[in-house]
Amino acid sequence: MKIKLAEKYGFCFGVKRAIKIAEENQNSATYGPLIHNSKEIARLDKDFKVGLVEDVKAFTSGDKAIVRTHGIEKEELAQLHNSNVDVVDATCPFVTKPQEIAQEMSEAGYDVVIFGDAVHPEIKGVKSYATYGANVVMNVSDLKNLHLKEKIALIAQTTRQVEDYMKIANYLIPRHKEVRVFNTICNATFENQEAVRKIATIADITIIIGGKNSSNTKQLFGIAKENCKDSYHIEDEKDLDYGWFQDKQFCAISAGASTPDWIIQNVVNSIEKEINS
Ligand code: SF4
Repeated sequence: MKIKLAEKYGFCFGVKRAIKIAEENQNSATYGPLIHNSKEIARLDKDFKVGLVEDVKAFTSGDKAIVRTHGIEKEELAQLHNSNVDVVDATCPFVTKPQEIAQEMSEAGYDVVIFGDAVHPEIKGVKSYATYGANVVMNVSDLKNLHLKEKIALIAQTTRQVEDYMKIANYLIPRHKEVRVFNTICNATFENQEAVRKIATIADITIIIGGKNSSNTKQLFGIAKENCKDSYHIEDEKDLDYGWFQDKQFCAISAGASTPDWIIQNVVNSIEKEINS
């Protein structure tokens, strides 16, 4: 069986940057998980003494808090500053951008609509910057229940698919006087998605590696499944079932934007070892 990695996979620019920031700030703690990968978080704790704090109130004067890749809510950031916490911002610049747009457009009188997952930390953060509030929608039917103003500013979660974003925009444009559509979808996600689409079409088994709570990994898995029925989402090599590989000729592998290379390599090595034994 041939094993091949997608042309683009794994860590994106924002995650690489956040990990570097964490490694450079030993004896600190991130507020919320830095990235959506529990194993990488455990490594940072063990090797760099970068802990994880889930409650913003647990930080006290003199502590060092690292703001995670997906950002935090505006009020929480203010709370950290007010408590004299040393704040190190590891928010990905591609997440800071929609936060700025939300604030600017809300203050300019637009109704802010965010296409994304309302419970995702990135969206909670972006929403908090809309000074006069924002509506979060997951699909067109969510929009149908809203009473929106004539002027709309549309923002997407960085990990969303362009095709789905267009459905939201296409619904809003004929119904409102002005709709400003901001392209806040991150290229890193897009590149990983295109690469998995390409390779999954020709593979007879596709393995997607990443945290079970990672939104972009789940999307990669969805694309893989559409193009290759034998697709599996695993967190690491321990989730592999070697029965999956029976009678398969070509195994494609990809990984979410917060999956470290060492986990990907462990999976590849385990599959190779098994099929060669
Ligand atoms: S996927 Fe994009 S937006 Fe998200 S952390 Fe990576 S580079 Fe930033």
